[in-house]
Amino acid sequence: MSGVESKPVIIVGAGPTGLALAARLGMDDVPCILLEAEPDLTVDLRAGSFHPPTIEMLTELGIGETMHREAIKVPVWQVRDRIAGVVAEFDLSLLSNDTPYPYRLHLEQHRLTPILLDRIRKDLSSVEIRFDEVVTEVAQDDGGVTVKTANGETLRGAFLVGCDGARSVVRAAMKVDFAGFTWPERFLVASTTFDLGEWGFAGAGYIADPDNWAAVFIVPDDGPPGLWRIAYGTDPAIPDEQVMAPASIQERLGTIMEHAGHDAEPFPLKYASTYRVHQRVATRFTEGRILLAGDAAHLNNPLGGFGLNGSVHDAVNLGGKLVEIYLDGAPHEDLFDLYDRQRRPVNIRAVQSMSIRNKKLLEERDPDVRAAEQRRLREIAANPETARAYLLNSSMINSVREAAAVKSGAAPMDVPLSMTKPAAK
Ligand SMILES: Cc1cc2nc3c(=O)[nH]c(=O)nc-3n(C[C@H](O)[C@H](O)[C@H](O)COP(=O)(O)OP(=O)(O)OC[C@H]3O[C@@H](n4cnc5c(N)ncnc54)[C@H](O)[C@@H]3O)c2cc1C
Repeated sequence: MSGVESKPVIIVGAGPTGLALAARLGMDDVPCILLEAEPDLTVDLRAGSFHPPTIEMLTELGIGETMHREAIKVPVWQVRDRIAGVVAEFDLSLLSNDTPYPYRLHLEQHRLTPILLDRIRKDLSSVEIRFDEVVTEVAQDDGGVTVKTANGETLRGAFLVGCDGARSVVRAAMKVDFAGFTWPERFLVASTTFDLGEWGFAGAGYIADPDNWAAVFIVPDDGPPGLWRIAYGTDPAIPDEQVMAPASIQERLGTIMEHAGHDAEPFPLKYASTYRVHQRVATRFTEGRILLAGDAAHLNNPLGGFGLNGSVHDAVNLGGKLVEIYLDGAPHEDLFDLYDRQRRPVNIRAVQSMSIRNKKLLEERDPDVRAAEQRRLREIAANPETARAYLLNSSMINSVREAAAVKSGAAPMDVPLSMTKPAAK
C-alpha cells in the first residue's frame, strides 16, 4: 500500500452494510476490523429485493454469481388495486440499455450476509471480523479513533464507520440528530407457501386499498418454489399479540386477496413478524474521522425496497473513498465531505420521498384521487419512454447517477433537511 495511513478502518456492525464495506476495503487490501455485537450473523425477516445498481455493485464485490444462483429473478412488478386487480405492470427489460441487470433479484438479507462473509473469509485477508464484540464507546482525536467494547478491549483505528443499524451507538456518540418521524402503525410481514403466481401476481406487487393495502413479493426461502411475503400496516390501537394471532393474519390475508381468486382456504403460513417503521435521516453522515452508513444513517418504510439497497450504495461509495485515502494518500476531509454530500441529499430526495409517496399511493382514501393516480400509472406504464423514466427512479439508477454527479467542491444539493409526515386523514 502506497498511502500514508496504516491503522485500520474500524467498522461497527456486520449487517449487509458493514460486510459490503469490509468487502470493498478488502478487495484493495485496506486493513479493517469489523466488530459485531452478536455471536453470529443475524437471521430475521427483513429486506429481500435487490435493484439493478445494487446487483451491479455486489457483482463488483465478487458475489454476483452466487447471488444469481440462489436468488429469484423478478423482471416485472405490478401495481394492483385490491378490488380491480392489476393497474399497471412495469417491465424492467426497458432498462436493458441502462444496466446489465434489467430485473430485480429477490434473496433474503440473511442469505446475502453469509455470502459476503464467505467471500471475505476466503479471499480478503486484510479484513478481520470479530463477533461477540459490543461497541460501547467511541472517541476521536487528530490522529485516529478509539473504540471500547463490552469485553473491556480498547482498539485504535484511523477511521470508524458506524454500520450499526437503527439504534446506532456511533450515531449517538456523534451527537447527530436523527431527523424525521415514526409511522404510528406497525408493519406485519407474513410469509405463505401458497403460490400467488397462480393468481397472476408478478414476483413483486403493490396492492392499493384504503384499509387493506399491502405489498407482496416472492423470496427463495429454502429453494424453489419459494415463499410469498405479504406486508401490511396494522392498527396502532391493537396490540401485537392480537394482530399476530393466526386467525387475525388469516382474516387479513383473506381480505387482501379477496378479489384475486382466493377460495377461502387458509393460507399455509411459515413466518410472521411485526416491526415499527420510520422515515429518518441523520443530519450529518460524517464528523471528523467518524462516519455513518446504512440504517445507522437513514431509515425508511419498505415500500419500494430502498433501505437495504441504499445501504449497499453507501457502503460502496464510502469504501471507494477510503481506498483512495489508503492507497493514494488522499486527504480524508474532502472525501468524507463529498460522501455526505453525495449520499445524504439523495436519500432525502429519492429514498425518503419515493417511499413516503408509495405508502400514500397505496393507502389513498379519496376515490377520485386514487382513480386519477391509477390512471396516471397506467398511462406511464403503457408508454415505453415514460415507463423507462419511471423505472430509472424506482430502480434507484437515477439516485446512484445523481450521487455520482455531485463533485468535490460543488455547491450542496438544494434539499429540505427535515421530513414531515403526511397529514392524517
Ligand atoms: C422487516 C423489515 C423489512 C425490510 N424490507 C426491506 C426491503 O424489502 N428492501 C430493502 O431494501 N430494505 C428493507 N428493509 C431495510 C433493511 O433490512 C435495512 O436497510 C438493512 O438491514 C440495513 O443494513 P445495516 O447493515 O445498515 O443494518 P443492520 O442490518 O441492522 O445491521 C446492523 C448490525 O450492527 C450490529 N450492531 C448494532 N449495535 C452494535 C454495537 N454496539 N456493536 C457491535 N455491533 C452492533 C447489529 O447486531 C447488526 O448485525 C427492511 C427492514 C425491516 C426491519
